[in-house]
Amino acid sequence: MKQEISAGGIVVFGNAILLLRKYNGDWVLPKGRVEENEDIGHAAVREVQEESGVKAELIKYIGDIKYEYVYGWNRTEMVYKTVHWFLMKSRNMECTPLKREGFVEAKYIHMKRAYDLAKYDDEKKIIRKAEIEMEKTLDI
Ligand code: ATP
Repeated sequence: MKQEISAGGIVVFGNAILLLRKYNGDWVLPKGRVEENEDIGHAAVREVQEESGVKAELIKYIGDIKYEYVYGWNRTEMVYKTVHWFLMKSRNMECTPLKREGFVEAKYIHMKRAYDLAKYDDEKKIIRKAEIEMEKTLDI
């Protein structure tokens, strides 16, 4: 059994959040692997910057999601994955997709539309949670 821990960000600018489009058309939130001994908040900020060029400011922890997937040439090995999500804010809408990671577009999209576009149901839930947190923190 293989375990993976990643961290990512719901990066807010006004009423919009940052989404990335993969070469296959899927819209996803920026995230990536937490390195050994790395703080998860630090990993989330680092991954957002690596995948989108955005230097976001951490606001608060939103929660985690868990999923499993199969990998390996014969697709028999299971990976049990946890992704920790952080609410973040950015100072402007500049962003650039990291092509080498398979991202063809990076875009700030209105919360409601982002919810509809997001490929995975658990990422939709995280977007909803971020929206609720933003409403509580009206000064962002
Ligand atoms: P990371 O961005 O954390 O480095 P990765 O790009 O190596 O990860 P994932 O994005 O976790 O890998 O994708 C691995 C598999 O899990 C793919 O088959 C993908 O479709 C699936 N997957 C990705 N995100 C989710 C999710 N939120 N819920 C369910 N399955 C997902």
